[in-house]
Amino acid sequence: MQKDIIIIGGGIGGLMTACLLCKEGYRPTIIEQHDRIGGGLHCFKRKGIYFESGIHYISGFEDTGVLKKIFSYLGLFDKIKIKPLDNDCFDLLHIGSENLKVKMGIGKDNFIQLLSEQFPHEAHAIQCYVNAIYEICNSIPLLNLRIDSTDWYTNEEFLISVNSFIKKFIKDEQLQHVLAWNNTLYGGSKDNSPIYIHAIITKFYIEGAARFIGGGQHVADAMADMIQSHGGKIILNTEITKIEIENKKITKIIAKDNREFYADNYIANIHPALLMDLIDPNKIQKAYRTRLQNLEISYSAFILYVHFKPNTFPYLNYNYFYYKNRDLIWDAINYNLDDYPPGFVLMTLPTSENEQYAERGIITCIMRYDDFSQWENTYIEKRGDNYKVFKNQIETKLLNLVNEVFPNFNDSIENVYSASPLSIRDYLRTKNGGLYGFQKNCDNLIKTRIFPHTKITNLFLTGQNINLHGILGVPLNAILTTSVLIGDMNYLINKINQHP
Ligand SMILES: Cc1cc2nc3c(=O)[nH]c(=O)nc-3n(C[C@H](O)[C@H](O)[C@H](O)COP(=O)(O)OP(=O)(O)OC[C@H]3O[C@@H](n4cnc5c(N)ncnc54)[C@H](O)[C@@H]3O)c2cc1C
Repeated sequence: MQKDIIIIGGGIGGLMTACLLCKEGYRPTIIEQHDRIGGGLHCFKRKGIYFESGIHYISGFEDTGVLKKIFSYLGLFDKIKIKPLDNDCFDLLHIGSENLKVKMGIGKDNFIQLLSEQFPHEAHAIQCYVNAIYEICNSIPLLNLRIDSTDWYTNEEFLISVNSFIKKFIKDEQLQHVLAWNNTLYGGSKDNSPIYIHAIITKFYIEGAARFIGGGQHVADAMADMIQSHGGKIILNTEITKIEIENKKITKIIAKDNREFYADNYIANIHPALLMDLIDPNKIQKAYRTRLQNLEISYSAFILYVHFKPNTFPYLNYNYFYYKNRDLIWDAINYNLDDYPPGFVLMTLPTSENEQYAERGIITCIMRYDDFSQWENTYIEKRGDNYKVFKNQIETKLLNLVNEVFPNFNDSIENVYSASPLSIRDYLRTKNGGLYGFQKNCDNLIKTRIFPHTKITNLFLTGQNINLHGILGVPLNAILTTSVLIGDMNYLINKINQHP
């Protein structure tokens, strides 16, 4: 008889860990505070239109992709609806002050060729740089579902900053900035983000940039169906507010409505700093608790969810990265509020496989949590009038900039809704509205390394804070967590690889 497992939180981390455990004969129970499963995968509805909360931009489902392998192993790949982005432009970078537009192409050779056409004097350097990015990714075992004992975390070459790495290859300053175009996808910081994160994200999207058709909720629902069909349970609308511990072991967890839940083992798919708030400080090692509570959180964002009038705004099968000037590619977070926004990322969201006009779009711009901190003790819909006024001002500023880049954009809007760092914090339950969990720092990587096992013997962690965030990182972290529970990583990885 397998031991009982409760997973607190039904984001992709909790769901993926539960699916992997189901394949091993476990029947895990997921407890989720929201009224639907998915966390960052979940979609919400406004006036009949669905919007995606967290994961809009994906990859890894192409033929050789690691996510295709994992989802196929779980019997879920066929249920996922994906739209690949344009081969010759999956991301478009636009630097306003230089009137520069650069297209990023899918496929390693295509990516190199398109960039080399625009920067012919750096063609050789671009090739070397991309080769180096691929080499870094190839030497990270888990990323390739490979088992070897090398601890790549201690490889010094992986730990230099993104900026230093790019400069090692590229002399042209404009191109140095261009190659950092996607740093908002990992909360990039010029001198602190370790190169391996940039390498992973860059290669990941070069290989198979795509979007979910209709949003990620169907992926979360497919995973929930699999768990339930294996005898697992999903309990919604249940927020865990207390974890009781005796002799370094959880004895029970308690929900906001005082219901109690018991299991042999518990997995937390919630932010580790928020997890610490649920535990009596005297019951967990102080140094461990303090470390988790004090780690830097990746930055937040202000988001616009746009419902377009029919047949007014084209469906763009690529992501539009706009920066007012090149310095803001790295320094957007240090914006002056009067000059907000420093730029934006616009994504139109596919509703079907082919569409000429967009029904929905998401516009995201980096934003500091601190700019909203005066309302940090408030909750959704109850933040007061001055919050609404401030939020509307930010919304208008962002729309004005988008309208400068896409004239008549505002005329194509049927409805627009916005989310501040506080909305992200409260809907997605992230710490300080941070987009990607803990911020990695190449000067002290070990400090931000979080392991699936904890100082409590029957408590394990899963989710974006373990290693890497996002649609790629969280499933890989789930493999780590599952391996710790079943006690054999080689066995699990071999099984996934051997699946036809
Ligand atoms: C705005 C935004 C845009 C993003 N865009 C992308 C993107 O395009 N592509 C990409 O790959 N990644 C993107 N990310 C990152 C990605 O969404 C996350 O890395 C990923 O969803 C994290 O998954 P998780 O399972 O670790 O956590 P979550 O998805 O946050 O899941 C945690 C779950 O736990 C639940 N929970 C929390 N506390 C409790 C409690 N006390 N009791 C019960 N349940 C609880 C929450 O409700 C939630 O469902 C984005 C993130 C944000 C915020």
